[in-house]
Amino acid sequence: MRNTRIIGTIGPATSDEETLTRLIEAGLDIARLNYSHGSLEDKEVLYKRIRKIEAEVGRPVGILADLPGPKIRLGRFPGDVMLNRDDNVILDCGTEASDVVEMPYRLPVAYPGLSVELQVNDPVLLADGLVRLKVDSTSGTTGGLVNCTVIDGGLISARKGVNVPHTVVNLPSIGEEDVVAMNHAMEHGADFIAVSYVRSPEDLAPVNKAISEAGIHTWVVAKIEHPAALEKLSDILANCNAVMVARGDLGVEIPLEKVPAAQERIVQEGMARGLPVIIATQMLESMIENPRPTRAEVTDVATAIRQGASCVMLSGETATGAHPVTTVETMARIASSIEEENRKLANPPALSVYRSTRAVANAGVELAKGAEVDRLIVATEHATAARLVAAYRPDIPVTAMTHRVRATRKTTMIRGVDSVLVKEKNRSKATIQLAVDVMLKDGRLLNGNSIVAVTGSPLAISGRTSAIRLLMVDHGGKLVDYE
Ligand code: ATP
Ligand code: MG
Ligand code: MG
Repeated sequence: MRNTRIIGTIGPATSDEETLTRLIEAGLDIARLNYSHGSLEDKEVLYKRIRKIEAEVGRPVGILADLPGPKIRLGRFPGDVMLNRDDNVILDCGTEASDVVEMPYRLPVAYPGLSVELQVNDPVLLADGLVRLKVDSTSGTTGGLVNCTVIDGGLISARKGVNVPHTVVNLPSIGEEDVVAMNHAMEHGADFIAVSYVRSPEDLAPVNKAISEAGIHTWVVAKIEHPAALEKLSDILANCNAVMVARGDLGVEIPLEKVPAAQERIVQEGMARGLPVIIATQMLESMIENPRPTRAEVTDVATAIRQGASCVMLSGETATGAHPVTTVETMARIASSIEEENRKLANPPALSVYRSTRAVANAGVELAKGAEVDRLIVATEHATAARLVAAYRPDIPVTAMTHRVRATRKTTMIRGVDSVLVKEKNRSKATIQLAVDVMLKDGRLLNGNSIVAVTGSPLAISGRTSAIRLLMVDHGGKLVDYE
């Protein structure tokens, strides 16, 4: 069994039902829908399609809605455009889209303020820094034109990012576009919402507030991709449910050579709080074109997992790549292999808000290790108890037992945890027995296996996590005392 979770961005290469099914069968745990690209109508179709495939495949699939955030992007235009060194490029600020982009290139940029904020000789980076421009002149007025020369060329397409390092962009963290995306995501049952360009804990507040006002339990993922976030990392981690090392923009906003240390620190601090940590961008980038990754990419994925990442993410590889299914298969193989080499990973987490649950979770893991049981079963309503058990990195399979479909989907982000859906009985042991019955049927448990169950009492799932039981499954499949 693979513990590390795989997230893949769904785009034109993977939106059809057949490819999406193959992607999930190949091991995709979470489908990422990037609200910076495509239309809301397309997303709506995808939500339905993913839920349909989830039911067919019989395994929960998480949906991660990624909000655009205060990021300047090129507008929409058809096709790819190759920019070469010394080409002249005009940035048409305050324009959403153009029908054609021909020589001399006039690229739409929706943000009208850019022509005011840029100055002569400023660098402008496109597509996560692939293309570099230099400003020759600018209108200096809102919604004006900026003339640039290409320094480093490359292929660009609609909605690619525009970064201006060292410029403080005057955009709110959650703007109009983000509110539309957030409401769409909540309405369609996204399991996770990622907030882009988090600079301070306050940037997470609007999404946290909307979720709690809606009375739902969607997890909030803080994307770390701006230097200001590194300064306030601890406060940011205290206000989210998971964290993403968004290396694409991070590597433009801070010097590239500072990215590895930033990644390591974010993984460590995230793990210390028992939060899932996602490593994103360029993990298997060359597979956008090639059926095999580079050795460096394989090592990057392995290193992220060794450091303690819970999830590894694919972007262009699955969104637009030529080999999306092979890429997921490759990712799954790398993850399984490094996990095997690396059974003992991490330090147990030092912190958690849910102190009592944490203490019981820790005791349950210790008991399971000491008694060398075959499986840990954790009763959980919103997947928090499962997350805390997983945070101790037990080298034993963990199953989240819940009566909520939504909690099963949350487990797609938690390292080494699968799930079982049961109806809650009025005695916790009876509920555990129901879970055991399902797992005997699907082969996750065998007669004679031993388990540790971490539950509430007297009800297993609702209420506070307070009880640990050491049990055996006898030869008739019944739960009995451990001997
Ligand atoms: P972010 O900063 O949020 O990662 P991004 O532009 O880097 O934004 P990714 O989600 O990393 O986008 O995906 C990589 C590329 O795949 C995008 O730049 C885009 O060209 C393409 N892509 C992703 N999703 C879609 C989509 N739904 N429709 C069209 N193209 C998409
Ligand atoms: Mg990206
Ligand atoms: Mg980004």
